[in-house]
Amino acid sequence: MKTEIAVVGGGPAGLASALALAKAGREVCVLERANWPQDRACGEGILPDGLAHLRALGVEPEGMPINGIEYYDERVGSFRGVFGGKPALGVRRTTLSRALHAACEDRVQLHSDAPVRVMTKRARGWRLTTAAGEVDADFVILADGPRSSLREQLGLTGKPPMRVHRLGWRQHLRIEPPSAFVEVHWGMGFEAYLTPVGPKQLGVAMLWREGVELPKGNERLWRWLDRFEGLRGRFDGVEPASVGRGIGRMAVSARRSTFDDGCFVGDALAFFDGISGEGLSAGFAQAHIIAQALGQGVPSGRVPGLERALWATLSSKRRLTQLLLLLHKHPSLRRVVFHLFRRQPGLFSWALNQSV
Ligand SMILES: Cc1cc2nc3c(=O)[nH]c(=O)nc-3n(C[C@H](O)[C@H](O)[C@H](O)COP(=O)(O)OP(=O)(O)OC[C@H]3O[C@@H](n4cnc5c(N)ncnc54)[C@H](O)[C@@H]3O)c2cc1C
Repeated sequence: MKTEIAVVGGGPAGLASALALAKAGREVCVLERANWPQDRACGEGILPDGLAHLRALGVEPEGMPINGIEYYDERVGSFRGVFGGKPALGVRRTTLSRALHAACEDRVQLHSDAPVRVMTKRARGWRLTTAAGEVDADFVILADGPRSSLREQLGLTGKPPMRVHRLGWRQHLRIEPPSAFVEVHWGMGFEAYLTPVGPKQLGVAMLWREGVELPKGNERLWRWLDRFEGLRGRFDGVEPASVGRGIGRMAVSARRSTFDDGCFVGDALAFFDGISGEGLSAGFAQAHIIAQALGQGVPSGRVPGLERALWATLSSKRRLTQLLLLLHKHPSLRRVVFHLFRRQPGLFSWALNQSV
């Protein structure tokens, strides 16, 4: 099969990129190793800039409106920051996947059960060897997620972008969300994130530093929640609404964002940490950048300006993640900052809106 642009990976970043390019008039196919809808360990909050990019593509997944973020530290108490009228959404990953897939269906060739195993350079573009046959493309977008095997194959995996190794996990509870805020509970070396994702569904994501011992087994979610003063006993007796899903070390990065006749998007390009809740927003912003760069046609070799433009989508996200990880690592510093925010909630809202 021949195509102008092949996207490897049909997660949010891959589908959004394919859709943006197809809308710009390019011929695009997506090669996905599994099938849709896709699920994944994620906090499932789409922050305002990410939601604006998604809506600009005409994609409106069903979810729960989010008004802001509420932080809770057991010594300081809780305080809220609001997004100031900018809409944000809590969305189940399967719902997001369905919405993106439906938006792509009429414009993009979508291939499931098509894991790409090998990429071979041709004079123009690449030959992709998949379980379903070979695909020749003038340009390849690697959107194959944080563990991108093709990034490895190209020798373009970089050093982890964060010094601390952190892990993630999520599950859902069958309960009416307590508020229209994402609740973030800070513990010693770990945090819990509660995101409303449906009228009777609350997402719970846990992030923690490698080496911190956390409960295991079927009841782990409840035993885990018991470690937070603000959550202890709050969900006793509540039924799970999904099975738990975990992810290994979160921080990953490519060495370059582009290569000859190709580029990376989403977590295959870089992911820092779930602490800032911005991975989806980064992928959607990159989709627009790629459509701007390739919308008029696909040049041969490197696309002028694309390398820098893709990294630029990540620079403020990297800074915010570094800052939040500093607060994670130094509880006494965190409490000084949180005391200030608690006394001046307007300041927290202002800080929040600098990044979202
Ligand atoms: C615990 C946790 C909480 C998070 N919370 C948030 C949050 O609240 N908000 C937010 O915005 N972000 C959050 N993130 C980040 C967000 O989940 C990711 O940034 C996002 O999922 C990246 O999307 P992607 O499309 O790049 O990758 P993925 O969603 O991983 O998709 C990659 C796709 O590629 C496919 N694939 C892989 N290899 C191949 C191959 N060889 N051939 C074909 N297909 C292949 C996979 O099957 C998959 O469908 C969180 C992350 C974690 C770990």
